Amino acid sequence: MKRRLIFASLLLPSLLAIAQEAKPAQPVVRVVRCGTLIHPSNGQVQHNVLITVEGERVRQVEENSNASAGNQVIDLSDHTCLPGLVDAHTHVLLQGDITAQDYDEQLLKQSVAYRAILATQSVRRALENGFTTIRDVETEGAGYADVDLKRAINRGVIPGPRMQVATRAMDVTGAYPLLGYGPDNARKAVREQISFGADWIKVYSDRSYFVRDNGILDDIPTFTMDELRAIVDEAHRQHHKVASHAMALNGVHNSVEAGVNSIEHGNYISDADIKTMVQKNIYYVPTIYVGEYVAAGRAAAGAKVWLDMIKIHEETFRRALKGGVKIVFGTDVGGFDWKINAAKEFPYMVKYGMTPLQAIRSATTTAADMSNDIGEILPGKFADLVALKGDPLNNIELLQQIDFVMKGGEVAKH
Ligand SMILES: [Zn+2]
Repeated sequence: MKRRLIFASLLLPSLLAIAQEAKPAQPVVRVVRCGTLIHPSNGQVQHNVLITVEGERVRQVEENSNASAGNQVIDLSDHTCLPGLVDAHTHVLLQGDITAQDYDEQLLKQSVAYRAILATQSVRRALENGFTTIRDVETEGAGYADVDLKRAINRGVIPGPRMQVATRAMDVTGAYPLLGYGPDNARKAVREQISFGADWIKVYSDRSYFVRDNGILDDIPTFTMDELRAIVDEAHRQHHKVASHAMALNGVHNSVEAGVNSIEHGNYISDADIKTMVQKNIYYVPTIYVGEYVAAGRAAAGAKVWLDMIKIHEETFRRALKGGVKIVFGTDVGGFDWKINAAKEFPYMVKYGMTPLQAIRSATTTAADMSNDIGEILPGKFADLVALKGDPLNNIELLQQIDFVMKGGEVAKH
């Protein structure tokens, strides 16, 4: 690993210099005509819109414009355009794990190199489904391969979304994946992951779920509060954020108290913790569809709790929505097969109480918490844009039929 680092640091500056020299003096200008453009932030809808893109960013957005821009126009006048979507919970290095056997098969029998090759398909699928940004929350035994995938995408080697990566994730000894315990070791692990290129630190805060007689989903918390606080403090000290896998009472409570940035899954969240999440601006990435996807298989393998967790999850989602928690779109794709379009998550959010606009917002403006440059089609933002036929504000299912994708001004699907 050390040798690789030295090699990379020697090679990087020269590659960057070549890339800069090769760039044309004038950025490419492209013009896109959209029949309809949705602005998720305020729900405003514009018609007959001309979007001028310069290089990787939006330069101008004009409504009812028939002016010939003097550039070739990408004609989407029979389409509805909206900002590129964000999936804030993916696993590009995993190809579905309903059962422990599926999981072991990939982690124990496949090489990291082979899994990285499969992941190049995953990232391409994500982009073609309209996800121009993803937050990949751990590699599931594939080390730092997510950093390499991100690098390959950024260098134009393979097509894929913008990526924020979490590398290896952290759990306690005796759980998974193995890690030494104690606040000092926790801090050390955070430093190591950041040094290898982690954007986010992912922690597993609970496990061993069971439903109490009063219907509350209970768990065994993993880290002590001292350990969890050390992880959050070290990550924040280095301007990195922490995503916490927390499905039940104690995992969520401890994570929220420690001040993580996002709660992943959150099948059960107490009312008190919902209030704290609002106060501390901690967002909720519910990943509903995957719960339904794995429940039957896991119940058949003996863990019936997964079926109960679906009902508890819906009730929590409704309380979180009502309580004003920031809800960000995330699917756990990779936990289910990448051949399934992750946009299947949208109808579940609507079924659980969101309006279609709120669901779209969760994958655009609300998710822009991750980067100021995404989530809206406005001058200065990245030209990340998707288009479909019909009106997703009336039919949320249509988001599974995106047929045009632009990322950073480059057409990825047409
Ligand atoms: Zn996950």
